[in-house]
Amino acid sequence: MSSEKRISVKSVRLALATLLSEAATSLNNKVSIDWPENKTTKKVVVLGFDGTEHTLLENWVKEGKLPNIAKLMTSGSYSTLNTTTPSQSPTAWSSFATGTNPGKHNVMDFIIRDPGTYTPTIGIIEVDSGSIGKPVIKPIQRGKTFWEILSEKGIKSKIIKVPITFPTRPMNGKLLSGLGTPDASGSIGTFSYYTTAKTTYIDNDMAYYLYNLENKNILDTKIQGPKTFSQKLTIKRYDNSVDLTVGNKTINLKVGEWSDYIEITFNIIGPLYRESGIAKFYLEESEPDLKLYLSPVSFDPAKPFYNISYPVDFAKSLANENGNFKSVGFSADVWALKEERISDEVFLQDLHNTFDEEIKIMKSEMKKNDWNVYVQVFQATDLVQHMFWRYLDSNNIRHKANSKYQDAILTVYEKMDKVIGEAQKIMSPDTTFIIMSDHGFGPYNKSVDLNAWLVDNGYMTLKDSSKRGDWITDLRSTDLWSNVDWSKTKAYAIGMGSLYINLKDREGKGIVITSEYQKLRDEIKNKLSKLKDGNVIVTSSIDKSEEVMHGEYVCNAPDLLIGFTKGYRISWQTTFGAVPKQVIFVNDNNFSGDHISIAPKLVPGIFISNNKFKNEEKSIMDIAPTVLNYFDIETPSEMDGKIIL
Ligand SMILES: [Zn+2]
Repeated sequence: MSSEKRISVKSVRLALATLLSEAATSLNNKVSIDWPENKTTKKVVVLGFDGTEHTLLENWVKEGKLPNIAKLMTSGSYSTLNTTTPSQSPTAWSSFATGTNPGKHNVMDFIIRDPGTYTPTIGIIEVDSGSIGKPVIKPIQRGKTFWEILSEKGIKSKIIKVPITFPTRPMNGKLLSGLGTPDASGSIGTFSYYTTAKTTYIDNDMAYYLYNLENKNILDTKIQGPKTFSQKLTIKRYDNSVDLTVGNKTINLKVGEWSDYIEITFNIIGPLYRESGIAKFYLEESEPDLKLYLSPVSFDPAKPFYNISYPVDFAKSLANENGNFKSVGFSADVWALKEERISDEVFLQDLHNTFDEEIKIMKSEMKKNDWNVYVQVFQATDLVQHMFWRYLDSNNIRHKANSKYQDAILTVYEKMDKVIGEAQKIMSPDTTFIIMSDHGFGPYNKSVDLNAWLVDNGYMTLKDSSKRGDWITDLRSTDLWSNVDWSKTKAYAIGMGSLYINLKDREGKGIVITSEYQKLRDEIKNKLSKLKDGNVIVTSSIDKSEEVMHGEYVCNAPDLLIGFTKGYRISWQTTFGAVPKQVIFVNDNNFSGDHISIAPKLVPGIFISNNKFKNEEKSIMDIAPTVLNYFDIETPSEMDGKIIL
């Protein structure tokens, strides 16, 4: 295992755990608002399949594998859909929802930095822990979503699992939050692993909860909740199964099986703050060694610790009608496969189970007909490509020819095609139907470390260059950048393709004066645009923030946004502000496909509709004004998208 693969979760979890470790409220969802009446009978359905890549789609349509999509392509419209700069899901889906560029909606990167301290923090929610009583979680996303504008006109929407909708906000209709919804421990998705096999994290003790247990028949251990809270877990081992006791319930689980959802309760302050979660166990082995996996603990939809739906009880009614479902935003456990604690097979079982839960919700909620606009986003397409691209690309170090998993991505695309067919059966024929993705995908075969490049080129200075590469130690220390001499550092990189100038009066220890800022930025851009790996130019786009965005929040954008050539991707070390020895190195992880930090023009999304849309270049920002226009609502002046219908 390389040191590269383990750190990603750690800092994200650190960032989020501090946010959610105490009881918190989201915006007041209990207010009842009298929305105006609107008698329109028009209907629009938008289904988003995160990360659907147009080249794969077109090939498989040609091969006759996606019949429903093929039919729509010929009878309606099909094109690519330009993504945002940067080509990240939180940014792109925020542009989808608001019809604006990132300079207006403020969602810049999954990981942003505190300019005062240079420390990384999550870029999708903000917490006000200084507020009286419980900390208040606020969205970082600014601006109005198109369903909020529709609400004001009395038009009802149903919004299911659209990313960056947590914390939830009032609207005319119903909403279940999507990507960005944390798990019960406060992270984006931290799993647990219980074993008697002598095993260690090697060096990342925060990526997941690892329980090294004694080789006994009855084991007392725990399930980690928020902060220091936990629930007792007792494991009784047999030859081919285990008894698992959580609270006052015991189940028997056989080797090679998943449990149903288990209810887990964390008593935080007596009965007042009792957090209820649900999770599933998977037993890989009981004897000779216990190998037991527990999925990240989702908020219990029936009684979530935070509001994950609007109205608050919508999540509960979904669970009552369709059965329990995974509510954590990451709909499959990429981290467990990245950390090699579950197999390809088990990952795919989990991914398809969750996909099926979401399809069930779609069918029952779409049928209810209590909406004018129905929007649902599925993550399975994105997550399967992150983890299984290695089977498509023979250049990947983990590629295996003729593997049974070479069709893993195709199988998910085929399921997407079926979902589209199912949705068409439910909706009336005059419904406008849009199918889209927020970006495409490509191989991630090599990592590029921007901080290593900055050091090599004299823009960043280390206090002790012999310590370079010891980035795990860096990340564990309280001062993440402890080896960086800020008094001699002109630029640094953090996040996913974001480069910042160490600007005086903006950054905590800034040294670059305003009059040198543009020249320095041009110089770095120019040099970085020539970065080569053999004969390949590694960077494909380098944008100054003001060239690709405008609006009130451009000031929060990175100074340079780096987009790599396909095959290359920002290193995990850069993402969390470390400086390894090499600039370019092989990615030897299961996490083998990506779009993040790839030049946006290389990874457009897709756009398909049953209607004839204008034959012109389309952007993800165009969906919001187009939907509004369909209901005769003028495009609000702040929107940057155009009407494409
Ligand atoms: Zn995405």
